Amino acid sequence: MDKKRGIYIHMPFCVQKCNYCAFLSFKADGSPRKEYTDALEKEIKLRAALENEQGSKKIDTVYIGGGTPSVMDISTVSEMIKTLRRSFDIDEDAEFTLEANPATLGRKDGVMLAKLQAYKFMGINRLSMGVQSMDNDRLHFMGRIHTAENVARDMHFIRQKGFENVNLDLIFSVPGETAEDALSDLEKILALSPEHVSCYSLQIEEGTPFGDMAERGELVEVPDEEDRDTYHRICSRLKEAGYEHYEISNFARRSENDTDGRSVYRSRHNSLYWNMDEYIGIGLGASGFVNGVRYKNTSDLDEYFAAINEGRLPVAEEHVNTAFDNISEAVFTGLRRREGVSYEEAVSAYMKAHDAEDIDPQTDNDFRDFFWEVFSEAKPEAEAYAEKGLLIIDDTGLRLTKTGIDISNSIMSLFV
Ligand code: SF4
Repeated sequence: MDKKRGIYIHMPFCVQKCNYCAFLSFKADGSPRKEYTDALEKEIKLRAALENEQGSKKIDTVYIGGGTPSVMDISTVSEMIKTLRRSFDIDEDAEFTLEANPATLGRKDGVMLAKLQAYKFMGINRLSMGVQSMDNDRLHFMGRIHTAENVARDMHFIRQKGFENVNLDLIFSVPGETAEDALSDLEKILALSPEHVSCYSLQIEEGTPFGDMAERGELVEVPDEEDRDTYHRICSRLKEAGYEHYEISNFARRSENDTDGRSVYRSRHNSLYWNMDEYIGIGLGASGFVNGVRYKNTSDLDEYFAAINEGRLPVAEEHVNTAFDNISEAVFTGLRRREGVSYEEAVSAYMKAHDAEDIDPQTDNDFRDFFWEVFSEAKPEAEAYAEKGLLIIDDTGLRLTKTGIDISNSIMSLFV
């Protein structure tokens, strides 16, 4: 299968840690940012050399995430991207995303415009902004460094500089927040006409300030029922506003350029993950999936630097996917998409693994029969979910219903 690949690059620095954040990120002040981007450049070259040995592929998407990539000095990001372009064959039409947080693009208008201009010059054509809320009290409570006014100002300059593909993230079910509060945030986000919206309910994670507060009984999580009600109201409002709900948490604005009912603004990079496509992960804690092997880089900054300085890849874990891993992951990730997963797609993932049985399915029925042969133990429970209206099982594959999304983890775990 001649699919293209993506590249993910991790920038682990932020202005400060948000109260709910369990991502791999550190306070940027006093951090070795330049040393880090220098190390990234070396890792890029090491990965590219390995790719050349094993057979490189065109790169269809690049995603610079974090952390907060927009806190990084423009000159270091620019050098890193030049190295990336020299090392990999990046498609002219590649989706090239940079995550940015409001209030990190520049306090003065001129600074912000220059930064955005530099991003354009580097070929970045999609920005993903961690807005999270449009209520200043809630933003402050979450430990965010920006205000709703910052978001509006950033979007004004982002549009002025000609960015035509912008994602805005929204977090709902923040303790103390009602469904109406979340919908009011959403209205303010919609007023900015983003091409893409990602909506997540707040997860209280151990080891974060919110996790500590919850342990001390100082924070009450939004009950599940309310959380699910808010989620479905958000989905309905986005649909009404002309967005395609294409993945559990992701919505893409419809446009006249859509083909086959799919919005052109779907995140191509994130779709790689849900489609079991390949991607190269670069940077601290980054994961990759290349030639049937899943790997994860070390999350320890000292270990990361030590590996790079010794001229080796900073990989901490590596796993060669079996045929069962492949089919299982294809179902697990495919069910996140509203169109679900087809038997053909899942069985094709199976057939790509090194230890796959030698099978030659030709028809839809062949794919379906083999799929259920692999998941014969899961079948009765899957059918029980289907009877309850939570899962649709038809001749071509399976997909979650709206209510099935609420218990997606239980349904997906049948196939693990
Ligand atoms: S900006 Fe994002 S990555 Fe950084 S601390 Fe906040 S939630 Fe975490």
